[in-house]
Amino acid sequence: MVKKIIDEKKINAIIEGTKNPSKRTILKVIEKAAQKKGLGLEEAGALVNLRSPELTKKLFEAAGCVKNEIYGERLVLFAPLYISDFCVNDCAYCNFHKSNKTFKRRKLTLDEIESQTRLLIDMGHKRLLVEAGEDPAHNDIDYVVSAIKRIYSVKTEKGNIRRVNVNIAAASAADYRKLKSACIGTYQLFQETYHRKTYEALHKGPKADYERQLTAYDRAFKAGIDDLGLGVLFGLYDWRFEALSLIAHSMYLETAHGVGPHTISVPRFQPAPTVTLRPAGRVSDNDFLKLIATLRVAVPYTGMIISTRESAATRKTAFKIGISQASAASNTTTGGYGETSRHPQFEIQDDRNLSEVIGDVVADGFLPSFCTACYRKGRTGETFMNLSKPGDIHKFCRPNGLLTFAEYLQDFGKNSFYSKGNELIAFYLNKIENEKLRNETKRRLYEIKKGKRDIYF
Ligand code: SAM
Ligand code: SF4
Repeated sequence: MVKKIIDEKKINAIIEGTKNPSKRTILKVIEKAAQKKGLGLEEAGALVNLRSPELTKKLFEAAGCVKNEIYGERLVLFAPLYISDFCVNDCAYCNFHKSNKTFKRRKLTLDEIESQTRLLIDMGHKRLLVEAGEDPAHNDIDYVVSAIKRIYSVKTEKGNIRRVNVNIAAASAADYRKLKSACIGTYQLFQETYHRKTYEALHKGPKADYERQLTAYDRAFKAGIDDLGLGVLFGLYDWRFEALSLIAHSMYLETAHGVGPHTISVPRFQPAPTVTLRPAGRVSDNDFLKLIATLRVAVPYTGMIISTRESAATRKTAFKIGISQASAASNTTTGGYGETSRHPQFEIQDDRNLSEVIGDVVADGFLPSFCTACYRKGRTGETFMNLSKPGDIHKFCRPNGLLTFAEYLQDFGKNSFYSKGNELIAFYLNKIENEKLRNETKRRLYEIKKGKRDIYF
């Protein structure tokens, strides 16, 4: 099974075999990438081995075009919500590792989850990513399901959370069925590293089972969760191997289930309290951007997620070359929103508030989006892929992005970027080619100004 998903020998051979790619090879690969049909492993191998700054620039341009043609100008924003840091694993990179006795573990009560949710709604968020350690005694699946239900039930004057994505440990099919019943958006799970030896060296506890982690997506899919998010903790091992493995895993999911990953996340190792690990595969900023661009063109239909682990400057460039979703105003301490006590899972580099992030996104000409329409309209799994592959998802994204950003401006943005934001809305509204759709979006934007909320295509 493992070999069907990741063939380490084959990936290593490709990395070796595509070393020092010629200019001709790279230009050919970039030309193919521009067709938005994805790349094979050898082609992606040439890109990860690319060194020339001039050709890297061309790759970034191609990646920017692919992102723009498939996902458009929008950038979807969300925040993580840590509900429990109890954990039975000893992952060498994480402050929540089991043997860390330097802080008192915390599991939020449902009322505390509600308070955290209220704070996030009142910042302007509409999408959350629920995070928890692995601990069957404290954070079993029923607790996670109750937490999600409570989040969805919270309504404030400023709105509600409309999509809850989940990032919890690998689970059984039965647990995934329960998770599915809680109406989650995407289920994300990071392989951390696809390199088995490194994986086994860095983990202790149930998570140390490489195969359990790698096959979790299959169990989730069979349990009915068809929006799956892949990821690697970049820095643990050679990033070129990890990037090709993510592509191989995406290909496997497509072949095995007919649906590739809904998203790929690119978390990069950050310092964390009590973590003494100095991982072997440190990724420079330039290589980090190169891997984003490579993944963007190799798996063009997938959403790509960057977090606040990265600095504002790195994020700014990453938005231009392939990222379509970003966390903002995040706190990685359990129950950390609105509190001063800090026991973060790891340190973050971008600690701006949501309004500051949005101000910058707008200044760069991107459309901040809080859209949650697809899964609420049933556009998940294969249905979503059939729209995103030919670039048709864009038709929904632009109007929905405009409507959700208009809501944000009305409810939270009556400060410095209100007029700039409205100019941006007018600009992208005019770019909707279909006249009927453009007029309908215009009508709905007017309704939002008059006070109507949560209208989407
Ligand atoms: N506990 C679950 C698990 O491990 O699958 C849920 C996810 S955990 C709360 C979120 C992710 O944080 C992990 O998958 C890991 O990739 C990432 N992480 C842990 N320590 C980190 C660090 N020092 N720097 C950056 N990311 C880190
Ligand atoms: Fe626990 Fe997840 Fe941290 Fe590992 S990464 S110690 S499983 S919370």
